[in-house]
Amino acid sequence: MAEPPVTNPVEDPVDAPTTDAMQNPVEEPAVDPMDVLMEDPVEEPVQNTIDYSEPFEVRESEGKGLGCFATRDIFAGNQILLEKCRLSCGNYRTRAQTMDDLVKNYKKLSQEEKNEYLSLYASNKWEHVRDTNHTLAQFGLPIEEKEEYARLYLVYLGNCFAVDDGVRDKDGTILVEARDGIYLKASRFNHSCDPNVTYSAMQIPGYWAATATRNIKKGTELCITYIPLFPSREKRQSRLRGWGFTCRCTRCEGWDEDYDKDLLEACRMRGLVPEGAEGIPQEDNEEPEHARLRRRVELAKKLQWQHTLFFSYHDLAVYNIFLSADLRRTDADEALTALEEAVHILETAIPIGVQLYGDNDATVADARDDLKSAHQKIQRIKDEEGIV
Ligand SMILES: [Zn+2]
Repeated sequence: MAEPPVTNPVEDPVDAPTTDAMQNPVEEPAVDPMDVLMEDPVEEPVQNTIDYSEPFEVRESEGKGLGCFATRDIFAGNQILLEKCRLSCGNYRTRAQTMDDLVKNYKKLSQEEKNEYLSLYASNKWEHVRDTNHTLAQFGLPIEEKEEYARLYLVYLGNCFAVDDGVRDKDGTILVEARDGIYLKASRFNHSCDPNVTYSAMQIPGYWAATATRNIKKGTELCITYIPLFPSREKRQSRLRGWGFTCRCTRCEGWDEDYDKDLLEACRMRGLVPEGAEGIPQEDNEEPEHARLRRRVELAKKLQWQHTLFFSYHDLAVYNIFLSADLRRTDADEALTALEEAVHILETAIPIGVQLYGDNDATVADARDDLKSAHQKIQRIKDEEGIV
């Protein structure tokens, strides 16, 4: 764990942590950061909270730095990680205020935790480095502290998740700042455009919660997605450029058939596939994604694997929602059809999720958010097209 991974998650590398001050580097801080930066270190002993007892280990991932790998077989719906937020900061109007808050909270950590945070991937985008150095140059700190806080801030830019939207009044004036959190363990998950783990940093306040979206064999790398999963490879790759890597996931490099083969094999073993039926076309990378996702749903239904079915439905619905955005540019009717299908799929999936995980579960809340979003998009298209 000594080396930082090449890839790391933030909600949006361009938009999320950007403050006015970053766009305008000459802006001066509204508060004096010296007050906080020069405070005495926190005296009380801090309990070490680092614990890697989850069903995965962090180790070298070929070509990607570090990554998380399953240490046992994991089943769809299993919780992968519930990590408490130990370091957060407000998303303030100026970079100096944000840095101020970040340093203040960083000082409350144990030395071991500080070392762990500093070992995470640090953004190396030139504008991030420039803005960080520009702000710290005003503080007149000893060189070691300057280096430590510069590293901390670049780690923040490379790894933060939005954890709280804050509060605005009806005119949009900020009453309470939005907040970002950095998580030691969550930061170790690499990206895949066909992720086997889903997460939320908002559903359970103060925690980053991750769940398996399918059955995962021991030794498999666990991946989340850093971006919305657009159907177009080019669009995904362009969004991922902010992290400085080219995605070589199975979806970008051609589908990996293993997961579907496993599903088909399970169906065959239970006599659910007629003799001679092909089921999965071999090495058919031309197959449209929705056909593949639909097959997963059909196989999960046959197997009556409710966990897999819930996530397969959710995948298919989310795919339809993203597809509708592309279709919208050329054909409003087709976009509406895709969205209406997403609504239908989610309305089928949500009761399954409630039955499995309960009404207040984060994964169910995720599906409900997507349903709400699909309804809103339908209404927007109808309004724009004058459809009653
Ligand atoms: Zn990819």
